[in-house]
Parts: sequence; C-alpha cells; structure tokens
Amino acid sequence: ILRVQDLTKSYQSGGRTLTVLEAVSFELQPGDTFSIVGPSGSGKTTLLGLCAGLDRASSGSVYLNDICLDNLTEDQRAAVRNEHVGFIFQNFQLLPTLTALENVMVPMELRGAKNARAYAQELLERVGLGQRGHHYPTQLSGGEQQRVSLARAFSNRPKILFADEPTGNLDDETSIKVENLLFELNRENGTTLVLVTHDLELAAKTQRIILIKGGKVIADSISAIIS
Ligand code: ATP
Repeated sequence: ILRVQDLTKSYQSGGRTLTVLEAVSFELQPGDTFSIVGPSGSGKTTLLGLCAGLDRASSGSVYLNDICLDNLTEDQRAAVRNEHVGFIFQNFQLLPTLTALENVMVPMELRGAKNARAYAQELLERVGLGQRGHHYPTQLSGGEQQRVSLARAFSNRPKILFADEPTGNLDDETSIKVENLLFELNRENGTTLVLVTHDLELAAKTQRIILIKGGKVIADSISAIIS
C-alpha cells in the first residue's frame, strides 16, 4: 500500500541547503499499523506529508497503492489523495466557515458521493459528536475539533490514514476514544494506519515503529526484531 524509497527532502534557505529528511525507506502492506516517533524537528511531519502526497520529495520515490507520486502535478496528487488517503493534521485544518457536519461532508462531496449528509452524521455520532454537527469549528474545543477531523479523514473510507499527533492536546479520556476509533477503523475496514506521535504508549500499540532523528531512520522495530 505504501512504498518509500530513499526519500530525501531539502530546503534552500539563504543560499544554503537544509536537508530535513535523508534516504528514508520502508514498505507497508494493506492493514499495517505503523508509527513514526522522534524528537521535535526530526522530520516526522515532513515524512508524513511526502507519503500522503501533500508535498514533493527532493529525491527518492513514493508509491501509494502502486501509484508513483514522484512526477505527478499538484492536481494529480490531490486526485490520488482524495481517492485513497485520509489525513489528520496536527492543527486539524477544519474549514472555519463550514459547520462540523459540512466539514465531514467535504471529501465525499468532492467525490460526488451519495448520502454524504447521512454518512457524515453517522461518523460524527461515532466520534461522540452527533449533537454538534451544526456547530462551527470556533464553537468546538480542541479535542472536539480533533474528532471532527478524524470523522472527515475517514469519510471517504480511505485505504490509508495518516495522522499527525492524533492524540496530541487531548485529555486522557478523549485520547483513548480517538485511539480506539483509529484501531477500530483498522480492524473493521483494513485501513492502514500511519501515525506520527510523541505518545510512546500509542506507538507501542502499532505493529511497527521507526525512530527518526535529524531526518534519518535510526531505529526500526521490524529490523530490530529480525536482527
Ligand atoms: P515536531 O515534532 O516539532 O512537529 P517534526 O519532527 O514533525 O517536528 P518537521 O515539521 O518535519 O519536524 O520539520 C523538520 C525540519 O524541517 C525542521 O527543522 C523544520 O524547521 C524544517 N522545515 C519544515 N518545513 C520547512 C520549510 N518549508 N522550509 C524550511 N525548513 C522547513
């Protein structure tokens, strides 16, 4: 479902090259659960964005569901994302002018799905916000926005769900709810989960963990088990 080969990302700033990700490679099968951990600034969000086709690598390759993202235009990558990918952003990125329900409906409407409203309502109920559909993001707490963002990420029944700090900023109780939901989606639908997290207990619930530091993979739980 996801193959990453020698992925490198550099930025030019003030005439200098800053390499934030260097030669990262891994491969995930459908239904796998995977976490990326590492210190702040180590390149985790950058790696997630490249894998999900939000951004382009400087070199190396990403294959998402056997589609090579390397030479696609932004529009083509958006089409691939809309078809295959769910994404939960660190800062939620809900559209402020739309209600919670409408936010969840957006990906479905982009795909012309039928019954978008009814399914969006069902998803809001699953994240415990069935009564809050008519509220705007500013009327919701951080944890509630996080759960709307999860409902939206799941609305197209993606084959792969990327989540950047899905339990960051949540209290313990809400964190457990969000966590349970993620793993339910994985079990019920075979959705592959790729999580960036500082929460090592959450990471430990996934099948495989990579640790990145300074843009490089310095430990991989699969290779640790094999060796
Ligand atoms: P955190 O845990 O704090 O969210 P992270 O591991 O997700 O950190 P990234 O957000 O991927 O780290 O950032 C990795 C590095 O890339 C950082 O040093 C950051 O400053 C740098 N970086 C990210 N985006 C850009 C950009 N557009 N231009 C220049 N440098 C950038």
